[in-house]
Amino acid sequence: MATKPELAAAPAGKSKNEALRARHTVAVPRGIATKSVYAAKAENAHIWDVDGKKYVDFAAGIAVVNTGHRHPKVMAAVAAQMQDFTHTCFNVAPYEEYIAVAERLNAATPGKFAKKTMFVTTGAEGVENAVKIARVATGRTAVIAFSGAFHGRTMMGMALTGKVVPYKKGFGPFPAEVYHAPFPKPYFGITAEAALAGLKDVFAADVDPARVAAIIVEPVQGEGGFYVAPAPYLQALRKLCDEHGIILIADEIQTGIARTGKMFAVEYSGIVPDLVVMAKGLGGGFPLAAVTGRAELMDAALPGGLGGTYAGSPVGLAAASAVLDVVADEDLCGKAVKLGAQIKGRLEDMQRKNEFSCIGDVRGLGAMVAVELVKDRAGKAPDAELTAKVVSKCQDKGLLILTCGPNANVIRFLPPLTCPEGVAAEGLDIFEAAMREAVGV
Ligand code: PMP
Repeated sequence: MATKPELAAAPAGKSKNEALRARHTVAVPRGIATKSVYAAKAENAHIWDVDGKKYVDFAAGIAVVNTGHRHPKVMAAVAAQMQDFTHTCFNVAPYEEYIAVAERLNAATPGKFAKKTMFVTTGAEGVENAVKIARVATGRTAVIAFSGAFHGRTMMGMALTGKVVPYKKGFGPFPAEVYHAPFPKPYFGITAEAALAGLKDVFAADVDPARVAAIIVEPVQGEGGFYVAPAPYLQALRKLCDEHGIILIADEIQTGIARTGKMFAVEYSGIVPDLVVMAKGLGGGFPLAAVTGRAELMDAALPGGLGGTYAGSPVGLAAASAVLDVVADEDLCGKAVKLGAQIKGRLEDMQRKNEFSCIGDVRGLGAMVAVELVKDRAGKAPDAELTAKVVSKCQDKGLLILTCGPNANVIRFLPPLTCPEGVAAEGLDIFEAAMREAVGV
């Protein structure tokens, strides 16, 4: 088998990571923020850097490799596809793989009605297409999203995203007719009732609900801080959408594909969205996104109105087909529940200890768990400095872990769902040791 060219040797006295950082800083814009660990290899729940150091991976490429790095079945499916063809463009010479995965997603998403699926490449592109479909199907223009939401970095993605710095600052103007309502955050006293009242205020003050094409909601806000939308809240959203003829779009890009312990996080509430957007975990490490929804909505766009050169890559689809097999065969929903309970249990144990009074909140759903670090529990003032220190110490000790939240004080736990219990325990040990050092106990 062909091998990759060797990396350039690091200059004397510098590690390969340091040497790459120096080149990176010169060659790549700072707007693309990164960690300082350069990957050389990854396997299941571990990543090795270019200097040979091994890390437990609690990021999973931001909830992408739910099936673990290089799952053998995903690798085999991709290798087999590459023997046949890698790209024809679905518009030019369509292929069965696209249809087969569409059929599976039509069956797997909530709702027992006729559905159709289209594929694109990234989550943001999926969001863009869901909004296009909602607009063309309803003949309406307005879209409602939520404060704290993240829906991607394209123009509509940014417009929908409910956080200015760094996602929107300086990039406007954004597409018109996007409105934001509050999202429930019980930790900060924003109850489901208060959030719903905020949405009704938007209808009263900003936009006639009869002009609203869609409401787009993350069942658990991801980048926004792992706030779980309470089931009654999602049920109320569904009811409002039905009353006003509004399409409900579930952005399951981070929550989907078994991450929360169900195939899709909305299943916990029993609601049925009209459109579901997926990406990340769907391709198991290969770029693929999908929009699945009611057939009549999906068919509203004219032929040629949807798609793209790379939309529905056969390589990504081969991977997705294997991912769907692995999720079922290895009970990744069950594993997500167990893994989530292990992580949450450990974090709650820590929260009970006096020395960790900085742990304000532990929350999440399935294997999507977060810990909010505060200066004091009563005031809940965010401690971004401590958070950065903990994450940096984790990295020094061999754990890759990410932050999220509007104030950069939430640490999120997103291991591959295939992460063995012992490896998860090792990661949690590192996290606790990093916390002890950071708080000085
Ligand atoms: N929606 C959600 C909920 C996400 O978490 C993300 C990515 N973090 C996106 C949309 C955008 O996806 P992508 O980065 O693939 O464009």
